[in-house]
Amino acid sequence: MARFSGKVAVVTGSSNGIGRATAILLASEGAKVTITGRDSERLEETRQAVLKAGVQEANVNSVVADITTSKGQDLIISSTLKKFGQINILINNAGANLPDASGNTRSNCTIENLQKMLQLNLQSVVEMTQKTRPHLGKTRGEIVNISSIGAGPSAQPQSVYYSTAKAALDQYSRCTAIDLISEGIRINVVQPGLVSTGFSTAARGLSADDSLKFYNSMGELPHCIPAGYCGQPEHLASVIAFLADRKASEYIVGQTIIADGGTSLVLGMHSVFGGKK
Ligand code: NDP
Repeated sequence: MARFSGKVAVVTGSSNGIGRATAILLASEGAKVTITGRDSERLEETRQAVLKAGVQEANVNSVVADITTSKGQDLIISSTLKKFGQINILINNAGANLPDASGNTRSNCTIENLQKMLQLNLQSVVEMTQKTRPHLGKTRGEIVNISSIGAGPSAQPQSVYYSTAKAALDQYSRCTAIDLISEGIRINVVQPGLVSTGFSTAARGLSADDSLKFYNSMGELPHCIPAGYCGQPEHLASVIAFLADRKASEYIVGQTIIADGGTSLVLGMHSVFGGKK
């Protein structure tokens, strides 16, 4: 039997990147999935990719919604319950590093931008957790929150509010994991490093082509990514699926898995020291 057979998963931010790869993986391994994002065309691309992976149409629920709105969150949850009757897995993946009106993401960015970054990367996760809690309690379900190596401990001066929101998300996840495990609900976190997705298009205003070039070039710099290549969405999807799979990871509670090809273990000074292997 497929490992997610009989499970219902909600994957936020699945109209692109890591969320799309995660939805495809969970669905192709037996889960019924709700896919969601604001962009209906990209969401349809995800739906088609899930179907192409051999999943029955009846096992995919496609919801166009803004995760930062109460209406959007309610629609995602109610349509999942209406179509599939339960929720077993919530992947809080939607997130972005959005510059302010002047293209800035550093520490002098506007307070409006801070509020926007907190609303998307932290508050929407808190709200989705609160709203799905009764349903996940019934199924003894799983939550996987997608953070970032930007959360620390290294400084991220180029993305101050985004990194701050992700750091808050990590601590929220740890605290809430202890609260919810008594109800049978397990929460864990994945921190990706650089992953070739639409993230840089939003964060740095790059075209799709330039974004791809950026990720490939970073993968060629061992002092940036020791693994020697940039992460692909599928590398993260398999880690997320591991934490969403109770049989595989049931004794892991409130923990963070870093999947970054070694990036966060490298210090800038290493590239100066050099030396032979
Ligand atoms: P993408 O830009 O490819 O995907 C982001 C997804 O989030 C899209 O599906 C987008 O959908 C959705 N999203 C963004 N804002 C909203 C919103 N207001 N309402 C609903 N959906 C929204 O990026 P990634 O796949 O890389 O990002 C996934 C997660 O991984 C994020 O949390 C990100 O912070 C994290 N991450 C990514 C890294 C990377 O290098 N790629 C590194 C570290 C962490 P739509 O536009 O259709 O609304």
